[in-house]
Amino acid sequence: MSPGAERVDALVVGAGVVGLAVARALALSGREVIVLEREAAIGTGTSSRNSEVVHAGIYYPAGSLKAQFCVRGREALYAYCAERGVAHQRCGKLIVANTASQLASLPGIIARAAANGVGDLVQLSQQEARAMEPQLTCLGALHSPSTGIVDSHALMLALQGDLEHFGGLVACHSGVRELAVTEHGIQVESLDGTRLLARTVINAAGLHACELARKIRGFDARLVPKPWYAKGSYFTLAGRSPFSHLIYPAPEPEAHLAGLGVHLTLDLGGQARFGPDVEWTSSPDDLQVNPARAEAFYDEVRRYWPALPDGSLQPGYAGIRPKISGPHEPAADFWLQGPQDHGVPGLVNLFGIESPGLTSCLAIADRVVALT
Ligand SMILES: Cc1cc2nc3c(=O)[nH]c(=O)nc-3n(C[C@H](O)[C@H](O)[C@H](O)COP(=O)(O)OP(=O)(O)OC[C@H]3O[C@@H](n4cnc5c(N)ncnc54)[C@H](O)[C@@H]3O)c2cc1C
Repeated sequence: MSPGAERVDALVVGAGVVGLAVARALALSGREVIVLEREAAIGTGTSSRNSEVVHAGIYYPAGSLKAQFCVRGREALYAYCAERGVAHQRCGKLIVANTASQLASLPGIIARAAANGVGDLVQLSQQEARAMEPQLTCLGALHSPSTGIVDSHALMLALQGDLEHFGGLVACHSGVRELAVTEHGIQVESLDGTRLLARTVINAAGLHACELARKIRGFDARLVPKPWYAKGSYFTLAGRSPFSHLIYPAPEPEAHLAGLGVHLTLDLGGQARFGPDVEWTSSPDDLQVNPARAEAFYDEVRRYWPALPDGSLQPGYAGIRPKISGPHEPAADFWLQGPQDHGVPGLVNLFGIESPGLTSCLAIADRVVALT
């Protein structure tokens, strides 16, 4: 052990929603936990640059971690939000078909959802869909009553509150520079030179998790997947939302490989936003919204809402999906890489925690505790 390294039980790198949920779960299980966050505040990364949708768990391959964690995490999240007073709403979503092929795909989506344990999808005729959303244009739709929205920042504050209540703490301005596997534990050095020696380290650095794992001395870098970054931009709608449900186009497999299509989501104040689209980028910091992308949004949104007025979309914000599969590959599953994968006791790397990571955060946390 290097001189000056202070011993701690468990360190979590990254105070996004997943890092905080993991830290809370470790603290609840009786562990001493410190979260190291390089920014000045919690949740400034992907966790505050997403759709804030509590996903039902419809599309993920049966048996995948995404499917399991989404379904389990969704109910755990609704219960947690109700218990802790975190603003949320089970507003439901409509998956809308505007082409014959989309319409033909709806029964398959019902079957796929059922294989994941999501048995509450209801197919709607054009008339039934319009009775729920009079402004909607479609040939038919599916209603998912268990989809909802959550105030992601309030959720993170509640998770941090629980962590602190159980004796843990979050240290902001504490970027991790490098790590080293030693015979006494994992040594973590932060950017200001502070050294800590931990029994357990959870790498929850989101978009930077792969880069951080490559900086672990004594760890086989060949076990670290290549990171890919798929940016998603949002445009907000000026004025009141004409819809009270979330509206998603039925997926066209080729067109929407990396995302779920330009959909309409609502925030808890009732404001509508459209997005995210998909734009592959080489930088995890490429967060500017290009106003020129609005043109494609008008085209996509008018398929299900022809009355979208000209000039009503304003550039909103962008988030970047922390992917571990590239543009022409099938979407990779979450990868919770623990000691059984790499042989280093106490180390868990969280790779590829893209959507539905927010929905799944409590279920991911339970699994990480089991791995440590
Ligand atoms: C466009 C988009 C839309 C999405 N929509 C949804 C949705 O509707 N529903 C859903 O369930 N999921 C959604 N997701 C996925 C969800 O947002 C993520 O899965 C989740 O936020 C990941 O949380 P995290 O804690 O792993 O990562 P992050 O929130 O990125 O947190 C990682 C943290 O690590 C910190 N960090 C990085 N490097 C270091 C270092 N060296 N030292 C210390 N700290 C470091 C960062 O500053 C950051 O705070 C969406 C994602 C995107 C991109």
